[in-house]
Amino acid sequence: MNIAMIAHDEKKDDIVQFSTAYLNVLKDHELFSTGTTGKRISEATGLSLHRFRSGPLGGDQQIGAMIAENNMDLVLFFKDPLTAQPHEPDISALGRLCDVYGIPIATNMATAEVLIHGLKKGDFAFRELRRQTGGNSGNEGDGNN
Ligand code: PGA
Repeated sequence: MNIAMIAHDEKKDDIVQFSTAYLNVLKDHELFSTGTTGKRISEATGLSLHRFRSGPLGGDQQIGAMIAENNMDLVLFFKDPLTAQPHEPDISALGRLCDVYGIPIATNMATAEVLIHGLKKGDFAFRELRRQTGGNSGNEGDGNN
């Protein structure tokens, strides 16, 4: 599965802790991240991630593009709800695309844990199917309406 990992600054320690705890699950998947989050995770765990730009510089949008292309299966986005983010529109857009395409997204560690356990026991098989059939959550149109 392709998994996106993103954390706001105040949550970076949490995502590092999460990645360490679930290293044995994450290591079997393709990991994508925003710039600084990926650097922190790979330094702490040795996991190899494809690092996009930093979030405020477009990284969230790059991950959004993967969602729109049906190339992302799970998004783990540890958000900081107590700090204003300069790239709030990009963050909202990422969440919106997950809803458009029916992609599971966790925005805090508690939900991330539930989803990672689901991943471990095979609950994401539907994503394989959707990838093979080229879609489709039932929400996305052909872009022409
Ligand atoms: P960062 O971006 O991993 O480059 O810090 C995350 C974000 O703030 O969206």
